[in-house]
Amino acid sequence: MYDLTIIGGGVIGGSILRNLSRYDLKICLLEKEDDVCMGQSKANSGIVHAGFDAAVGSLKAKFNVLGNEMMPDFAKELGVKYVNNGSLVVAFSFEEMKTLEELRERGIKNGVKGLEILDREELVNKEPNISDEAVGALFAPTGGIVCPYELTIAAIGNAMDNGAVLITNFDVCKIDGEFGNFTVYSQDGQKVETKAVINCAGLGGQKIAELVGDDYIKLGGRKGEYILLDRESGDFVSHTLFFTPTAKGKGILVSQTVDKNIILGPTAEEVSDGDTSTSADGLNSVIEKANKMCKNVPLYNTITSFAGVRAYSDRHDFIIEESKNKKGVIHCVGIESPGLTSAPAIAKYVTENLVDKLFDLREKKDFNPIRKPDYFFKNLSDDEKNEIIKTSPEYGHIICRCEQITEGEIIRAVKENPPAKNIDAVKRRTRAGMGRCQGGFCQPQVAEIIAETLGIPLTEVTKSGKGSNLVLERTK
Ligand SMILES: Cc1cc2nc3c(=O)[nH]c(=O)nc-3n(C[C@H](O)[C@H](O)[C@H](O)COP(=O)(O)OP(=O)(O)OC[C@H]3O[C@@H](n4cnc5c(N)ncnc54)[C@H](O)[C@@H]3O)c2cc1C
Repeated sequence: MYDLTIIGGGVIGGSILRNLSRYDLKICLLEKEDDVCMGQSKANSGIVHAGFDAAVGSLKAKFNVLGNEMMPDFAKELGVKYVNNGSLVVAFSFEEMKTLEELRERGIKNGVKGLEILDREELVNKEPNISDEAVGALFAPTGGIVCPYELTIAAIGNAMDNGAVLITNFDVCKIDGEFGNFTVYSQDGQKVETKAVINCAGLGGQKIAELVGDDYIKLGGRKGEYILLDRESGDFVSHTLFFTPTAKGKGILVSQTVDKNIILGPTAEEVSDGDTSTSADGLNSVIEKANKMCKNVPLYNTITSFAGVRAYSDRHDFIIEESKNKKGVIHCVGIESPGLTSAPAIAKYVTENLVDKLFDLREKKDFNPIRKPDYFFKNLSDDEKNEIIKTSPEYGHIICRCEQITEGEIIRAVKENPPAKNIDAVKRRTRAGMGRCQGGFCQPQVAEIIAETLGIPLTEVTKSGKGSNLVLERTK
């Protein structure tokens, strides 16, 4: 019997799991996919928002500003790259400059520090590739960037290193019982017994709420399509550039990522399911807007496109509360943007204000908050590399040529918490396959390493879980 079971291995479920692993509790995370971080936490802009955008007094505003403050230490403890690059909301007319004043006022009310209105000259000094049409900007020095899947995987890995249990391929379809004695069932007949449940199921959050009779929770999906440019263009911009919001929405952003790619997007399109396909219309609108924001956008360096689906609530705010019908059930749903930014603050709030009411929380003496940033062999000095290769020769064997990822790093990703059991999972942990050729050369070798490390036949290795097997049978 677990004390607490979290449903959904995104950045919210992962951050709460990690925070709860400080305490003397038996905790478990259930994820329907073959790996963690398979929902919105995998495909978003990776921006640590400053917090001037959300309505004053909303949960979004509160957790955004707190999360922004907590993120540098959170990322550091977890060994995850975070860059305080600052953000710029760019105005293209004097009417938009007035909107920037309103944004600045709202930001100040939300508690955002250091907001400053820049004229065109100051803006061009910060971003030389900005459009000739731009007239000024709102500068937010506390804006940042982080890798969303690295953060989610590291939070869950650190929680597991501290005793939490992860069960993947567990698609929750039924919850029975009462506080102190729930049974959670999966589609394929597995079951988990737990005293309490936290619903962090992203787009699946409404279904989980309905399983405990909470049909007042209503969620919708809004797709966002992106284009990613190669690291060769990584210095094209250094800040995160937003359009000034209008009645029609916020438009797209142009930003550097922590890995020095350039990200363009996202669009905003209502969808009724989790459809993450990209479309010519969507990507063309990203290109059009990116060309409005900047001069000479190096689109020839495009390496991939992708989409994520925001799970928003009909309250247009986060829902972070106890169930109205079932004691022992907590909902953390409708966590659209700025949910990534808010994750550490939401985790702290849920622990100290909601879980605290259900359990007598006692800190473990041996909780270790530190996860070593051990993924990037290529960043070591030659002496350090040679030292490692002496005892582990697999680190001397480059598998992904674009990103220079070694066999040793892939084996480690398959073995350490949370284990990477498929090719995309290895990619998210090591970057093998994330470079210019997008896995064209290294994918078969990565599959062989996974098969060998897990001791399974190659026919069982998948790209991203059930039904995505790479090879079906031996021909010779
Ligand atoms: C296009 C886009 C851009 C964004 N940009 C930003 C940004 O720049 N900055 C920012 O702060 N935020 C941003 N966000 C918001 C941020 O990504 C989300 O707020 C955050 O990822 C929400 O995390 P989550 O854990 O709630 O949901 P998810 O990451 O979706 O996780 C939910 C998990 O639950 C699992 N699940 C669902 N149903 C079940 C079930 N029945 N049983 C078991 N498991 C289940 C899913 O497989 C999934 O892994 C963006 C979002 C999108 C989509």
